[in-house]
Amino acid sequence: MSRSGRMLRELAGWVPPALARAFGRPAALFFHGVEPAIRDPRIQRNHHDAAQFRAIARTLKENFDVLPLAALGEVLKAPECHPRALFLMSDDGYANTLGVAADILEELRLPWALFVSTHHIDTGEWNPLTLARLFLFYAPDGRYLMPHIGAVEFAAQREAVASEFLERFKALAADKAKAALNAMLAALGQARLFELMERFPSERFLNWAQVRALQARGVEIGAHAHWHWPMNAAQSPDWLREQTRGARARIAEEIGNCRHFAYPFGNAHDVSSQAWQAVRDAGYEHAFTTLSGSLDGGANPWLLPRYGLGSQEANLAALVPLLRAGNGRLARWQNRLAG
Ligand SMILES: [Zn+2]
Repeated sequence: MSRSGRMLRELAGWVPPALARAFGRPAALFFHGVEPAIRDPRIQRNHHDAAQFRAIARTLKENFDVLPLAALGEVLKAPECHPRALFLMSDDGYANTLGVAADILEELRLPWALFVSTHHIDTGEWNPLTLARLFLFYAPDGRYLMPHIGAVEFAAQREAVASEFLERFKALAADKAKAALNAMLAALGQARLFELMERFPSERFLNWAQVRALQARGVEIGAHAHWHWPMNAAQSPDWLREQTRGARARIAEEIGNCRHFAYPFGNAHDVSSQAWQAVRDAGYEHAFTTLSGSLDGGANPWLLPRYGLGSQEANLAALVPLLRAGNGRLARWQNRLAG
């Protein structure tokens, strides 16, 4: 959770929902996977506990108008006319969106969209950040030298080492990141890796037949790039084209069409000028970041704001209208990336 996200949640605890509602503007919210139970939150960071997710979904149902993503263009034309409009979406394409999340949302009749990373749907290969976390939390104690990242030494408390290591990892160009990831997996060892992959089935991705099954149940399918990696300034133009144009072609082939995009990670340092221009040039109508804001803030339809749902959300009815507070920062960032 970002610093501005934490501040908003704190503030939302003090604002009466009725007052916040008066400030309402349309907004986009996202989650990742939903699991019946979380075993290790250091690894299963992308998943909501099913009971907590159900409580969040019920709050959305009771307080907002959750709309299908197909209505986004209309809402953006006159945001002030849709103060309670919300768009709900899930990123990455975890198998448990079909197994758990879809049933909960269907029961409450809440429409949602799913953004899949096509390489992972094609191959079943796990999210590189999840694999890095397996190395960081389950490799034996010791000192490791990782290509393009440097030395990492594990002692008793790994959390601080892990977060610093992951920041350096995420800054790498995709080809260097793959070399570093291979070294992490080699250090972990194949037997240990297989054992951990059995232990955390939450991290498995959908296959295309399962994505089509969700589409048949009314879920709109968008692109979350090809390989799940930041589209930051370290990446090459060819790679950005594959991430945008390539992913869209792959989804069109399997699903029929693909109009929307969501940036992996999607924070200010994960999206470059070249990245959003590649998204625009690939023919997407809209794209979502993970900066806070409401859907009337800023002008660039390929850099829309979106709020990541926390594992628990006590004051969501007050928090969503307050997302507007992020629009100034969002507009300044959009301007910086425009030039
Ligand atoms: Zn993602």
